[in-house]
Amino acid sequence: MAYTHAIRIAIVGAGAGGSSAAYYLTKAARQNGDIIDIDVFEKRYQAGGRSRTVTPYNDSSYSPIELGASIFVGANKNMVKAVREFDYNLADTDIGSFGIYDGDSFVFESSEWTYWNYVKLLWRYGYTAPRTVQIHVKQAMEKFLQLYDAKFLRNHGPWEHPKDLVADLGLDGLVEESGLTHFHNSRFASEVVDAATRVNYGQNIDSIHALGALVSMAGNDGMAVDGGNWRVFQRFLEHSNATVYFGCEVGDIRRTSSGLWQLYLGDGAHVERLYDYVIFATPLPLFRIPYVDLYVTLVATNASTYARDALRGLPSHPPSMILTTDALARHTGKTSQLELNSVNYVQQARKGSKDDDVDVDDEWIVKIFSESPSAWGDQDLHVLFGGSQNVGWTHRHVFKAYPYLQPENASSLPPFEVDDGVFYINAMEPVLSTMESETVAARNVIGLLGAKLGYGKGWKDACTTDDDDWIWIDC
Ligand SMILES: Cc1cc2nc3c(=O)[nH]c(=O)nc-3n(C[C@H](O)[C@H](O)[C@H](O)COP(=O)(O)OP(=O)(O)OC[C@H]3O[C@@H](n4cnc5c(N)ncnc54)[C@H](O)[C@@H]3O)c2cc1C
Repeated sequence: MAYTHAIRIAIVGAGAGGSSAAYYLTKAARQNGDIIDIDVFEKRYQAGGRSRTVTPYNDSSYSPIELGASIFVGANKNMVKAVREFDYNLADTDIGSFGIYDGDSFVFESSEWTYWNYVKLLWRYGYTAPRTVQIHVKQAMEKFLQLYDAKFLRNHGPWEHPKDLVADLGLDGLVEESGLTHFHNSRFASEVVDAATRVNYGQNIDSIHALGALVSMAGNDGMAVDGGNWRVFQRFLEHSNATVYFGCEVGDIRRTSSGLWQLYLGDGAHVERLYDYVIFATPLPLFRIPYVDLYVTLVATNASTYARDALRGLPSHPPSMILTTDALARHTGKTSQLELNSVNYVQQARKGSKDDDVDVDDEWIVKIFSESPSAWGDQDLHVLFGGSQNVGWTHRHVFKAYPYLQPENASSLPPFEVDDGVFYINAMEPVLSTMESETVAARNVIGLLGAKLGYGKGWKDACTTDDDDWIWIDC
């Protein structure tokens, strides 16, 4: 297509997907000597979307706490590269001790000694089941890492549909069966992997697809950005040439008679400019993908651990992180009584400047994930921490957190291009919903868009380093 004006592209949403799309698109245009106009519309007043922080007591002398997406891992190469490039420090993400609670008792408790943990694992679950999970996690991760390999991208990408992406990665079988089926109903999967899927995706092992289960188990080198992961997404925008409109909710788009796209805001007013392309970087209700309602409660407490009678079967030295499994309900056929996905002493409260903060004596930050709207009111918190005098500050938020990662044929999912010139980054989410996978989906969408813009340098040609190396695609 011959254009008579600088190409105009609207991006809706400035979370991981939208901000990285602006960044990758700016790079692609630069490398191809093109001048484009990018406008980002974000309904909130900050970048980051589901990656956001809050400050205890709303007091800015406290260090911020992650409310949403808190962890990425070493295999998340776009995130890791961005953190390095933007020169951010990493925050402490040590999870301390953990236990797995089934609503009646603790089925597993970690110990300080790795060796003893190993013995306990062997004792309860045997050798084969944990080892099988470990091997499958490694294999799935290796397949996922092909997405950063030049040769693989040249041969396969960019993808028009998530089903083709997972098929080319060799991960399609994993989105079609449940985690529990994949692991042959093993006790380890039913208890330990279940605990991981419940904290990571608010879903039980028998209802989440196997890829979601494996990703939930892949986080043993967790990282977070000091001051909040959202800072990466803010910086993506700053390093793009996009004009960002905060506080602007897009309500609708319509194609005009000239073939360009008109954006309408939440209040019905239209945006003056018309756009050649629109990229949606937020879940669209149109596709009716159900999302998990996750109730997140943050608490500042002066209790250094949970009250003794807070949970039946709580050990005398409770773990700092309590994960939960629905294995008991599954085995007895009874309705689950669990009102908790996880509760975690995240860190000691901290005060001071970003790079120079110190622990606040006798004050800890605890994070609770639950799918139960009625749970974790003030009374419940008083019981959990041994009295109202021990609860200093609370903050509650309900997220449409991530899609239910249901086992299904990926061809039923929405495509990356939903109409001519309208792209959809969150088409990726029912396959995998993480900050990293949204940057991967954004890069893919920019690959599709680059092809339309006739970019010679881009998805396939920008990758000039040794084919056998892991490389960064700077398109
Ligand atoms: C509690 C919680 C914990 C999580 N933990 C992790 C984790 O540890 N690690 C991890 O990698 N992932 C985690 N996730 C998942 C991760 O947050 C998401 O997969 C990812 O952030 C999605 O990014 P996104 O940009 O696609 O969408 P979003 O982050 O939802 O961004 C969409 C943006 O679009 C804006 N928007 C929406 N509608 C409109 C509109 N009409 N007009 C304009 N703007 C609009 C929104 O305000 C938002 O800023 C977690 C999620 C939650 C909720």
